Amino acid sequence: MMIIMKPGSTQAEVEHVIEHIKANGLTPHVSVGEDHTVIGAVGDTHAVPIEIFDFLEGVESVVRISQPFKLASRQFHPKNSVFPLDGFTIGGNDIVVIAGPCSVESRVQMLETAQAVREAGAHALRGGAFKPRTSPYTFQGLGEEGLELLAEARQLTGMPVVVEITSLTQVEVMEKYVDILQIGARNMQNFALLSTVGQTQMPVLLKRGMSATIEELLMASEYILSGGNQRVMLCERGIRTFETATRNTTDINAIPVLKSMTHLPVILDPSHSTGHADYVTAIARAAIAAGADGLIVEVHPDPAHALSDGRQSLKPEKFAELVKQVGQIAEVMGRKLAPVNKPQKSNLLEKPKED
Ligand code: PEP
Ligand code: MN
Repeated sequence: MMIIMKPGSTQAEVEHVIEHIKANGLTPHVSVGEDHTVIGAVGDTHAVPIEIFDFLEGVESVVRISQPFKLASRQFHPKNSVFPLDGFTIGGNDIVVIAGPCSVESRVQMLETAQAVREAGAHALRGGAFKPRTSPYTFQGLGEEGLELLAEARQLTGMPVVVEITSLTQVEVMEKYVDILQIGARNMQNFALLSTVGQTQMPVLLKRGMSATIEELLMASEYILSGGNQRVMLCERGIRTFETATRNTTDINAIPVLKSMTHLPVILDPSHSTGHADYVTAIARAAIAAGADGLIVEVHPDPAHALSDGRQSLKPEKFAELVKQVGQIAEVMGRKLAPVNKPQKSNLLEKPKED
């Protein structure tokens, strides 16, 4: 349930409501808006009558949130959640582009890609170090060595890095090297992992499971939000259907549906949702036209020799064209690409390595 405080309600009144929420076995989540403070009371609210809160000082109204997801719901938080991600913001009017290889493979591959996507206008860098591969016999990622290379690329380009976490045991090493945690499709319902990242203060990019409904995605986000971590971005990455012409089917509907159901930023991954480099740009354009707040795109300098997902990876020149086209669609939609403030050129590969 949601307790809406009167404009100008005092801190003491807010605290009094919080005490009542706790006394009824519920957990309070305070959201301070421009006009109103709203306090979410989350837990088993069925047995708790609304009247308990209605008569408290400073309370304007009490509403039950009808959807099963509470903190992610637009009912709880009507305005878009907008939050900073090291140099830019996500969820507002600006469109954010995250790009990089599926997997970190080598220093040269990582730094070359980082430089190319930065020059093309990317805002954040992606790269997998712990890969959730279907086969245990394929490349599994470089592990911590991969994270070190990503951190080096971040230092040289100024881009924050996004990396998938696949196990609870990786939290510490992620906190050391990474800016944004990705929860992959295969772990969308790994509830222990969701709760653990909810205990961190790192922004999370939560990908939709390949057979998960939109509601299940939102319930998964609730595990993170209810732990106190408010910086969650949702990512549509294609779902399993009977269609075999593409790796997955981009659920473009999910973008406006999510935007109406939740205040959280929504991102589209046209690489995994199509599985083919030839279709990535078209679907990236469609995503922005449909209202997405950003994209996450796989880019590789030599896709034919990539150790994972080469078929769907764009060469840097194609990615530069994608950014240009996406910028044009954004303008039509009354939006724009987030500014790229930090250095774009840095001759990364000329820097001597220390060891
Ligand atoms: C990835 O981003 O490389 C990845 C494995 O994505 P997903 O979890 O969407 O399959
Ligand atoms: Mn991939």
